[in-house]
Amino acid sequence: MNAKISRYLQDARPPTPCLIVDVDAVEEGYIQLRDLLPEARIFYAVKANPLAPVVKRLNKLGSSFDTASRQEIDLCLKQGAKADRISFGNTIKKAADIAYAYEKGVRLFAFDSEAELRKLAQAAPGAKVFCRVLMECEGAEWPLSRKFGCSPKMAADLMVQARELGLDAYGLSFHVGSQQTDLSQWDTALGRVSSLFSILRERDVDLRMVNLGGGFPAQYRSDVPPLEAYARTVMAAVRRHFGNRIPELIVEPGRSLVGDAGVIQTEVVLISDKGDGDGRRWVYLDIGKFSGLAETMDESIKYRLRTPHDGGRTGPVVLAGPTCDSADILYEKTRYELPLDLAIGDKVEILTTGAYTCTYSSVGFNGFEPLKTICI
Ligand SMILES: *Cc1c(COP(=O)(O)O)cnc(C)c1O
Repeated sequence: MNAKISRYLQDARPPTPCLIVDVDAVEEGYIQLRDLLPEARIFYAVKANPLAPVVKRLNKLGSSFDTASRQEIDLCLKQGAKADRISFGNTIKKAADIAYAYEKGVRLFAFDSEAELRKLAQAAPGAKVFCRVLMECEGAEWPLSRKFGCSPKMAADLMVQARELGLDAYGLSFHVGSQQTDLSQWDTALGRVSSLFSILRERDVDLRMVNLGGGFPAQYRSDVPPLEAYARTVMAAVRRHFGNRIPELIVEPGRSLVGDAGVIQTEVVLISDKGDGDGRRWVYLDIGKFSGLAETMDESIKYRLRTPHDGGRTGPVVLAGPTCDSADILYEKTRYELPLDLAIGDKVEILTTGAYTCTYSSVGFNGFEPLKTICI
């Protein structure tokens, strides 16, 4: 575990549950990605962790920002980001929010439908637009399929229409799915967008940008290839499909920038069994699905745990949250083992929880407070 966070937890003994984010680790992640992918502009996906010190630090480092709402735009502006480094990347926006962003100076917008394109033409005249292309997201632990993007053929027609509507038909985007473990997905995606570049060139629309999305990994339970391998594979695919006509590139990392920079500390509230012969202990923590661990839905994201008894003998457990909702079980099908010495009152650390946690916390289901966050 991150030594700075470990030291902080030892010295400060904050009440649990809480998320500690090491902003220096976010900075290191940003610099690493920037150095590995110098060809691409980094737009941090703000939704992954919108804490002000995180956004502020990334802004200082020169990052741009991918936002999904008026509130995220305001947050970035407030932390000093210039509007020309903000993209409104959600394909589902109210016309009033598009107008608001435009009025604030934002000129880069995503869409994946004709109706959204018409909203953009109305509320953001002349802005740069990019169309999101549908992906299958196979191999992703947190897929973003179906809901976003349109078919390649539709994307081509919409980009022609974008120009006819007076917008700047800037480029195409895709997202191969979050925590993508199959590196070949970028090759498939880039093949798809490069053919669209050619098709559109024949229709006199010269696209200039490819937005490679997110999908870069954080370190959960299963090993993932190093970020170097991702960067190498992505750039090899870009070169294979675009040759020496490489367009402007954008990446939108969320999880990979902030995931490993955060640790949640939690406390064991109860250890019990059901007397049903299952043989597994039920371990109830003071955090669950409603206080930040939403990505355990369908047991998709499998966090690593640390306990004070690591190294001792272990046994299988079912892990659950503290609320009176039976959906609030973190891992039941996935095999988790915890030390037999684990006791009620012990602190347990949930590692790599800097991404998609604190803002997934409910405002007070069952009276439990939203997850507390501390940036160090
Ligand atoms: C959520 C999101 C991202 C970030 O994805 P990660 O897999 O967390 O890096 C990037 N782009 C868009 C459009 C998103 O919605």
